[in-house]
Amino acid sequence: MNIVLASSEVVPFAKTGGLADVCGSLPQQLSALGNRVSIFLPGYRPVVYGDFTLYETGIKLEIPLGHKVVEGRLLRTTLPGSAVEVWVVAQDEYFDRDALYGEKGSDYEDNCERFVFFSRSILEAVRMLDLKPDIIHANDWQTGLIPALLKEEYFSNPLYENIASLITIHNLAYQGVFPAEQMALTGLDWKHFHHTQMEYWGQLNLLKTGIVFADAINTVSPTYAREIQTAEQGCGLEGVLVDRSDCLSGILNGIDTAVWSPESDTLIPANFSIDNWPQGKSVCKQHLQKLFGLEEDANKPLIGIVGRLASQKGWAMILQVMRQWLDQRDVQWVVLGTGDPEYHTILTSLYQTHPHKLGLRLGFSNELAHQIEAGADIFLMPSQYEPCGLNQMYSMAYGTVPVVRKTGGLADTVIDVDDASDDQAANGFVFEEFESLALERAVHRAVDVYCSDKERWRSLVRAAMQRDWSWAASARAYQSLYEETVARKRL
Ligand code: ADP
Repeated sequence: MNIVLASSEVVPFAKTGGLADVCGSLPQQLSALGNRVSIFLPGYRPVVYGDFTLYETGIKLEIPLGHKVVEGRLLRTTLPGSAVEVWVVAQDEYFDRDALYGEKGSDYEDNCERFVFFSRSILEAVRMLDLKPDIIHANDWQTGLIPALLKEEYFSNPLYENIASLITIHNLAYQGVFPAEQMALTGLDWKHFHHTQMEYWGQLNLLKTGIVFADAINTVSPTYAREIQTAEQGCGLEGVLVDRSDCLSGILNGIDTAVWSPESDTLIPANFSIDNWPQGKSVCKQHLQKLFGLEEDANKPLIGIVGRLASQKGWAMILQVMRQWLDQRDVQWVVLGTGDPEYHTILTSLYQTHPHKLGLRLGFSNELAHQIEAGADIFLMPSQYEPCGLNQMYSMAYGTVPVVRKTGGLADTVIDVDDASDDQAANGFVFEEFESLALERAVHRAVDVYCSDKERWRSLVRAAMQRDWSWAASARAYQSLYEETVARKRL
């Protein structure tokens, strides 16, 4: 199958979030399944003028944008370590900037123009490069216009009439909403500026556009795909999502097992596998306790947390439980994170009063993230919402038992001790209510099993480590989704 993947972020070229990880890992797996994948990425400053080796194609783009025509050029490279083609859409006025989407807390004012240019460039390049894709896979609002252009403008050209489109929603909170007059930049007729199509409360909404016009829509976990059809989690788009529910599905992201594997991880003090984890993890735990000035006791439960200090991640609840437990319970905590200054202040004061029970690092450290995933016994992730979540999967790969709230990808990856079945072995602790009492009960259950039922704990760790968290499984699911979508389009 010929697949064009359109994304504003791709690891290792440009990243601000999970979108980049997906678009860096998925194409390699799809290519291993025998597909031809062509990735399109904007030519940001570090991509064009950094250390990547790019080749000129000699192809010039002339893209109509409202009343003007904007020129760009196409460069070629490959995903490092693979033969997957990457086409870079270079246009220095738009993309040779300090950041991807904005600076100093403000979005660039011409973001609509920049990404309309990018989206149109991809459709033109498909023809100029003679790619003949079966499907174009758009991602998030930045490429949300592509399905609409295919359906409303390019359909009459035989080169495009059979191309199917898929849009993946990585983060429903970011929708690409712009003032109505920017509709003119899209080149589509104003008749589409209607609340059932591209308009959202008087403004242009590019993610909504993608959702309305794509042949298929997916998000990054099956549970999140259901949740976004409700008023609580639909970010105002629940109506269109319900309307399109017949072609809306969820596919879990995978993890990069070349980077996140306890068997080969070079950032942790001892490697281990499912066969010898007790020894390896105890070395990692002791190292972590030492690093953070905690008592080096193999039997004390150690709870780890890594991630953004944001309310979405349940910090208000975590801090309530932590406050109480630091005074009353013989449990150790290690926290790595950065974010909301209010949480920084509270955590710092808890650390000052309990330095031997709480290890704290306010900052970003990939090395420490690996060491916490490997050395902790329990990993806490009580998010309010979580489209997919990576940290719970990392922790399970490292035999660290997660305690999570039943939402999004957390609900799809963690199976509570009480919900095990013949098909699914328990691998963690899950609670439902977004309130500290429910979290506390779940942490209590985890600590209780850890301290008093060693056999049960070992089976949780084994189940967590056994499951295949790699991208291979997700890529097979994407392959099936592409095939179904293309078949439906050609009916
Ligand atoms: P989200 O994308 O909502 O932040 P995820 O769990 O999907 O949450 O992914 C977070 C990623 O960022 C993980 O790879 C995690 O290890 C990493 N991360 C977050 N905060 C930190 C930090 N302070 N130091 C190191 N890595 C971090």
